[in-house]
Amino acid sequence: MKGKKGLLIVLSGPSGVGKGTVRKAIFSKEDTEYEYSISVTTRKPRQGEMDGVDYFFKSREEFERMIERGELLEYAEYVGNYYGTPVDYVRKTLDAGKDVFLEIEVQGAKQVREKFPEGLFIFLVPPSLRELKSRITGRGTETEEIIQNRMQAAKEELLLMNLYDYVVVNDKIESACNTINAIVKAEHCRRERVEKIYKEMLGVHE
Ligand code: 5GP
Repeated sequence: MKGKKGLLIVLSGPSGVGKGTVRKAIFSKEDTEYEYSISVTTRKPRQGEMDGVDYFFKSREEFERMIERGELLEYAEYVGNYYGTPVDYVRKTLDAGKDVFLEIEVQGAKQVREKFPEGLFIFLVPPSLRELKSRITGRGTETEEIIQNRMQAAKEELLLMNLYDYVVVNDKIESACNTINAIVKAEHCRRERVEKIYKEMLGVHE
């Protein structure tokens, strides 16, 4: 359909929730039609990781130059390293009518929401409330202080949900992937999105 721009899909969530595993599972399928936006990072490659496939590996100086030149859609410092999304690739791919998929941590997702409010923001959460409770209370031997700290951390994570359109539970990888794919499909059918395309096509100006 003429004028159809791709959808910017952002998968984020608290650390350790399994965003990377879910993303890899989605892209391991041959019929996945989203384009994965490869991030830039200053962290060292792990065993088996390849430059230009898993990440674009850069020095801190190179990364800071990219920030100065405005080449990143968002970036964040996470556990002592920079991570960022090259803006050029995202814009060009969306303009070509293809969906772009970002898998990024929460500070970066917040920046994307500000720049691309029309994107689709998905928050991945840990498996179950029971697990959350047992993580917080431990084996019943934790001090009150530890429990309070864990409660506080869990509350902060939960509040981050605010910025997102959908919440997906990462119980089983396969089922989380299917849910994400279903959300993207539904999002493409949203009246607001479809209407905009039709109006452009028919030259309707309001
Ligand atoms: P890892 O070092 O394990 O590959 O990734 C660490 C964290 O960085 C993960 O939570 C991952 O989602 C996040 N991350 C990867 N690429 C980007 C990016 O381009 N921007 C931001 N903000 N976070 C990213």
